Amino acid sequence: MKRRDLLRLAGAASGSVGLGGCAAGIDRLSNAISSIGRPSPVSRADTARVVVVGGGYGGATAAKYVRLLSQHQIEVVLIEPDAAFVSCPLSNLVLGGSRTLADITRPYTSLRATHGVRVVHDMVASIDATQRIATLASGGEIRYDKLVLSPGVEMIWTEVTGLRAASQQGRVLQAWKAGPETAALRRQLEAMPDGGVFAISIPEAPYRCPPGPYERASIVANYFKAAKPRSKVLILDANEDVTSKGPLFKKVWAESYAGLLEYRPQHKATGVDAATNTLKFEIQDDVRADVLNVLPPMRAGAIAVQTGLANSNARWCNVNWLNFESTAARHIHVIGDSIQIASLMPKSGHMANSQAKVTAAAIVAELNGWELDPAPMLSNTCYSFVDDKRSVHVASVHAYAEDEKTFKPVPGSGGLSSAPSELEAGYAWNWARSIWADMLA
Ligand SMILES: Cc1cc2nc3c(=O)[nH]c(=O)nc-3n(C[C@H](O)[C@H](O)[C@H](O)COP(=O)(O)OP(=O)(O)OC[C@H]3O[C@@H](n4cnc5c(N)ncnc54)[C@H](O)[C@@H]3O)c2cc1C
Repeated sequence: MKRRDLLRLAGAASGSVGLGGCAAGIDRLSNAISSIGRPSPVSRADTARVVVVGGGYGGATAAKYVRLLSQHQIEVVLIEPDAAFVSCPLSNLVLGGSRTLADITRPYTSLRATHGVRVVHDMVASIDATQRIATLASGGEIRYDKLVLSPGVEMIWTEVTGLRAASQQGRVLQAWKAGPETAALRRQLEAMPDGGVFAISIPEAPYRCPPGPYERASIVANYFKAAKPRSKVLILDANEDVTSKGPLFKKVWAESYAGLLEYRPQHKATGVDAATNTLKFEIQDDVRADVLNVLPPMRAGAIAVQTGLANSNARWCNVNWLNFESTAARHIHVIGDSIQIASLMPKSGHMANSQAKVTAAAIVAELNGWELDPAPMLSNTCYSFVDDKRSVHVASVHAYAEDEKTFKPVPGSGGLSSAPSELEAGYAWNWARSIWADMLA
């Protein structure tokens, strides 16, 4: 490793850590870096470093909880390119115009100041799982004892011809990671003339947030109803039917958006013609729309794929469910949307947050030489807005089943709204504020 890289990394760390552990932290960083090239046995808790890749729902929670559960003994470095956390949950309301990106953005400052997490704004360019070294896009390297990988999803561009170029040109957007693209898609909707068509194309499951596309279609329909009543929303779904909260969404579409929103199942998109804003399908006729929102099939975040961890159909990462350690690489724990799900386990922010806590507890246990929790549990609640004021939810609890070595839904634990309500919309915002505080405050 080059000395300038070491210095840059030490500088980044000293600039971002809370006052408490600053000097000791840099010493440990330097000691650790000087040991690069000699992979050592995994350290004990008071000398160990956990590197967390990705500061979203999974990663930010894991970073905070490793610090908390180790009573601030274990050093944690969180690597995330974005300056602030922007929530995907509730981001569809920004598309509908009732909320702004500021409403769903939270800073990383408390992770640093309150919990002493070193937050480094960079990308991890590569991971050497044998040497236990992560290399940053800016060139620095950092050794880890344990690495938590929560990089979200990557779009499989090659599955829809022409989509990558259309997306890079800003013509056909995804907005499946909240942020600048969400604002750009909102601008496209605002610019669309009354009488225009907004088409959203959904890939075959599994994909990030099963109900998210149907929520988006509903919220956009609600916006059109008020602002552009001659317009139309088309849902072009590769699946045979609505993949989540189906009866609830269909009832709302019939009652509130009849003539305005049309649902077409079994429409698998295969290509995009950006010049004419046309979507092509495996079987059906082409569809032209004024605003196209094309979601291609997805897989684990690029860094997970590149590290060779996507060992389930070359798309998702298999993990040991007791500690979320990759089955492909020791000491790398994969959580969130990147993993191959267990039965009925959604790819959701709440699930990533829940997995992160099980993982943090397992890492702290392993680094202290304690037994792993033999019976971890996970929970999930997912709210979906059907307009700017009413929401529905689905909830579930998942328990580790020792006999099958996987998580299974706890019978009778599930919950589903009977109808959308403003009360549930209030609960949705309370859910969001409390989970953001759980991750970041
Ligand atoms: C429109 C929409 C609505 C949704 N609604 C809900 C909802 O109501 N409830 C719910 O629970 N879930 C919802 N979700 C799903 C939820 O957003 C995801 O399941 C959740 O974000 C997954 O967490 P994660 O940590 O796996 O990924 P993310 O939260 O996306 O975090 C991944 C982070 O990793 C970073 N990263 C990626 N690669 C690297 C790298 N190489 N180096 C460093 N950093 C990297 C990224 O910048 C990103 O910040 C919704 C999603 C969408 C798109």
